[in-house]
Parts: sequence; structure tokens; C-alpha cells
Amino acid sequence: MSADTRINKSFKNLASFSEEVLVDCPYCHKRAIVFAEHGQHTVPYPNQFRAKFRCNNCYKSIDENFWYGPIIIAPANANCGYCGGRLKHSEKVNKYQDKIEVKCQNCKQEKKYDVHYSLTYATNKQATDPYFGLQLWLQIPVDDNILWAYNFEHLEYLKNYVSAKLREAASGGKYSLAWKLPNFIKLAKNKGKILKAIGRLEKKVAIV
Ligand SMILES: [Zn+2]
Ligand SMILES: [Zn+2]
Repeated sequence: MSADTRINKSFKNLASFSEEVLVDCPYCHKRAIVFAEHGQHTVPYPNQFRAKFRCNNCYKSIDENFWYGPIIIAPANANCGYCGGRLKHSEKVNKYQDKIEVKCQNCKQEKKYDVHYSLTYATNKQATDPYFGLQLWLQIPVDDNILWAYNFEHLEYLKNYVSAKLREAASGGKYSLAWKLPNFIKLAKNKGKILKAIGRLEKKVAIV
């Protein structure tokens, strides 16, 4: 094995792959693209961006001010309105709502609370683009996890990462891609499975 198989140490963070994200078109379920122009601050996700959706199959447009992905909501006031007990509750919803009904574990009283919400990009069940929350085109289950990539360049990077014997790419700092990688990708024992899954995703290059 030559030195060429080492990972290029100039690290890439996830944002560097996120200017062109392949997604599943919510209308025709074929490949669509989200193009993004980043602002200055792009770690870990750009907080200023202009993103555009384009489907070259059905040409329909989406509401670009809307989040299509799952949202996690939890009561904003984390204490029960009756007994003051701590509320431990959060749930995943498909549409934003500003109230959540929660039953207190302590006094069993139910009450509606204002919500605190967060957007979910990727979990072990699904992966979405960071701009509109659309399902990624390149995602595949590997055991209980989801392997995903924003585009084919990103997939190639993951392949090189997993193929390489040396796992020193993590030197890029807190937000390097290697650091963000879920553990199942880093585990040596999963290498075969992951390369197989990547191989299946690579075939999608032919499906436009
Ligand atoms: Zn479409
Ligand atoms: Zn209570």
C-alpha cells in the first residue's frame, strides 16, 4: 500500500460538500438538487445562505421559506404548570406546531405548553438536506444506521476515508468531516458493509 492511499490531510468539513445537495424531489421522487450560496460563516452549517431547489425531472418548485423535514419539539417551560415537577419530554413531528400537550410524569396532569423546537438533519432513521429538510437522494441503511452523502463527491470522500488504513483525518479540528462522522462509519469491523453500501449508492449516479 503506497502513501497515495493515505487520506489527504487537508481536511474537509461538511459545509464544503453542501453547496450542491442531491435530494429526493417531494413531487416526483426523482433526483433533484439544492444549490446553496454560502455566507462567510460556514461552520458547521452555514448560518447565512441562499438556497435554491431545482428538479430537472418535473420542474415543480417548492416554497423556499419552508422547512420540509422533521422537527423536534419539547415544552419551552421545562417544569409542570401544576406541581412544578420537571418535564422530560420531546417528540418528532412532521409539521411545526406552537403548542405541545404534555402529561406530567409526577402529578399526571395534562397541559399545553409553548414549544421549543429544533430541526433535525440526520438521525439513524433518515437524513435531510440542511436547507429545506428534504430527504437526501444518497442514503442507505447500514444495520441500524443510515449512511448518507450530500453528493457524489462527498460519497467519494467517505469511500476514501473508509478505505484508508490510516484514520488520521481527524486532525482537521472540531468540525472536520471525520469528527462529524458517526461512529458506525469509523468502526473497522463495519468497513466491508459500508463499502458495499457506498457501492450501491454509487450506482445511483446513472439514475438522473
Ligand atoms: Zn420532481
Ligand atoms: Zn406535574
